[in-house]
Amino acid sequence: MKGSAASKIGLLLILATAVAAFFAFDLDSYLTLDNLRARQGELAALLEARPLLVIGTFFLVYVAVTALSLPGAAIMTLAAGAIFGLLFGTTIVSFASAIGASLAFLSSRYLLRDWVRATFGERVEAIDRGIAKDGAFYLLTLRLIPAFPFFLINLAMGLTRMRLVTFYIVSQIGMFLGTIVFVNAGTQLAAIERTSDILSPALIGSFVLLGAFPLIAKFLIARWKQHRIYKRFRRPRTFDRNLIVIGAGAGGLVTSLIAATVRAKVTLIEAKDMGGDCLNTGCVPSKALIASAKVAHQLRTGADFGVHPRHVEVRFREVMERVHAAIAEIAPADSVERYTGLGVDVRQGHATLVDPWTVEIDGGERLTARSIVIAAGGTPAVPDIPGLETSGYLTSDTMWGALRGRDELPRRIVIVGGGPIGTELAQAFARLGSSVTQVDHGPRILTKEDDDVSALVAEILTGDGVDIRTGYEAVRVDGKTLVARADGEEATFPFDELIVAVGRKARLSGYGLESLGIETDKTIVTNDWLETLYPNIYAVGDVAGPYQFTHLAAHQAWFAAVNALFGSVKRFRADYRVLPWVTFTDPEVAHVGHNERSAREAEVDYEVVRYDLSHLDRAVAEGARKGFVKILVQPGKDKILGATIVAAGAGELLAEIVLAMKHGLGLNKILATVHAYPTMAEANKYAAGEWKKAHKPERLLAWVDRWHAWQRG
Ligand SMILES: Cc1cc2nc3c(=O)[nH]c(=O)nc-3n(C[C@H](O)[C@H](O)[C@H](O)COP(=O)(O)OP(=O)(O)OC[C@H]3O[C@@H](n4cnc5c(N)ncnc54)[C@H](O)[C@@H]3O)c2cc1C
Repeated sequence: MKGSAASKIGLLLILATAVAAFFAFDLDSYLTLDNLRARQGELAALLEARPLLVIGTFFLVYVAVTALSLPGAAIMTLAAGAIFGLLFGTTIVSFASAIGASLAFLSSRYLLRDWVRATFGERVEAIDRGIAKDGAFYLLTLRLIPAFPFFLINLAMGLTRMRLVTFYIVSQIGMFLGTIVFVNAGTQLAAIERTSDILSPALIGSFVLLGAFPLIAKFLIARWKQHRIYKRFRRPRTFDRNLIVIGAGAGGLVTSLIAATVRAKVTLIEAKDMGGDCLNTGCVPSKALIASAKVAHQLRTGADFGVHPRHVEVRFREVMERVHAAIAEIAPADSVERYTGLGVDVRQGHATLVDPWTVEIDGGERLTARSIVIAAGGTPAVPDIPGLETSGYLTSDTMWGALRGRDELPRRIVIVGGGPIGTELAQAFARLGSSVTQVDHGPRILTKEDDDVSALVAEILTGDGVDIRTGYEAVRVDGKTLVARADGEEATFPFDELIVAVGRKARLSGYGLESLGIETDKTIVTNDWLETLYPNIYAVGDVAGPYQFTHLAAHQAWFAAVNALFGSVKRFRADYRVLPWVTFTDPEVAHVGHNERSAREAEVDYEVVRYDLSHLDRAVAEGARKGFVKILVQPGKDKILGATIVAAGAGELLAEIVLAMKHGLGLNKILATVHAYPTMAEANKYAAGEWKKAHKPERLLAWVDRWHAWQRG
């Protein structure tokens, strides 16, 4: 609910004038018990003579009193009983109070919500998530207990994302009983000395019980659901171990390491290679390939630096051997031996969930544990394209093995996919010397990034010789040719190797999720604590999402391990607020928090600070001028909302911003930090300087100007 500052000030003035008039004209003196009793007869006569006028006026005044959060709603409710009787009085008050409350709710939302969101940002988002899930329950409880001030509930709820219709309906239902009690009391007005007489301690007690009912019911329903889920299984009386972890990729390794460190008995089961995707087919081989490509590129462009290599020869077999050597060098850190030494019981084999506490290995041995963590990772997604299946296509899973031992670099490579993996591979192979075509149906590559980021990376890849074909939908593969369509026209792309890199999908079948009925969507469905449908079974990493990064899998592992082992004492919500990621093109693209695209989607106000690397001494000296630091800042505040850096080593530069965001440091702090000269990291400081320049105190400077002039005499 957005509005201009002028219209908000206008509304605020109207409301303030109305409230001021109420007190200035002493209208509150009319809304007293004595006055009501004194005029009861008069009012009854008036009702007799002009029923519509009385009912209409009463209704509107009631709405106004509640909408403006004025004192007097309780007296007016009594008056409704005294004048209209129980049934009619209750009906009038029920609608008038719900409408008035909704108007107060809307005013608060219109006037304050943007400010509250801007000031308390992430904390409000957490409340909003809670309200989206259970808001109706909370509101019902608050409404049922008349001890909670009516007007405060209206104003506070207006600041959340609760829908108006939910607010209205729940309010009307929740206030109904209280309304009856007060209207009924109004029918015996003479017997009431003070409004506080109406609510005897016993009655308040009953309301509190009633108010607690929705929450108690919610708790009982949750327990009952849990009981129903587990009912069809026989829970073991004792468990062999505290925790079983399925999958030894980043998520599973870190989970089991944490469990073993805190002395839990933990078993880690891996069907294939220890280290999972990142070590064997993902991050490590791709970054090793990129490293070789970078050297080839530097040698080929050496002349720009006055260095003229005579002949650059890429020996592909050696490139691939180096890739595998990198995997072999890192592998011991993830090995069975290392983890066994750290206290983890490691088993090689395929794990299958038998029941919520039992896991079977290779159809034989069964192990039980109080909790289970699923870290089964994902596999490359393969689109349904006619002819693809028989084309001998490669994916990130198969390419490292398939290309190993080859002497010849594939001459023509077609890569389907414009995401980070496809883009990294496209540039790497082009720099090694392949003729690369990158095909994607989207409007641009790296669609999660802002337009200017995609455009710069595309420009650089094109400079490296990659033929980028965005807006092309792959329609079929004819032998060794990919046929793709754009604007109704077909184009053909012959290849020696076809690499499919259209994303990765969570591994959701083949290990018992189906038989246990564990809910899946594109990933295993988990709650904030990473619990699946069964609260003792957790999921982390690529199999759980919401992002697919090694560092996210490791981050989630902490939450899953701690919640699984100590959740009965204290549970922790997984927190993704400051999550960085890097695409390892050259220059790299490093991203944390909001970029412009995501900020617009989330309706978060921002201002952009941009610093271009072409001004940075170190970048000029290195011949690495292409790139920029772009930081999103909350308007009017020194609060970083996110950053994207396109630069050589952007992943390293980003660490400073990640630290700042995590610990609530702003650009002033970055500006006040000494950065060594000449480093790429100075770019962050200069970006902070750009922000400072844009916000310099012009008025103060004008005075300082005068002061200097006066000093000069
Ligand atoms: C080419 C490429 C480059 C990448 N680059 C980066 C990067 O630079 N930075 C980054 O952060 N991320 C990168 N990623 C993503 C990263 O590899 C994944 O996010 C990360 O590996 C996920 O870890 P995980 O533990 O969830 O799953 P995985 O690493 O996939 O591990 C899951 C493990 O579970 C095992 N398993 C599955 N089912 C069973 C079962 N029933 N029984 C026993 N074992 C089972 C599997 O064999 C596997 O070893 C890249 C991925 C690819 C493909």
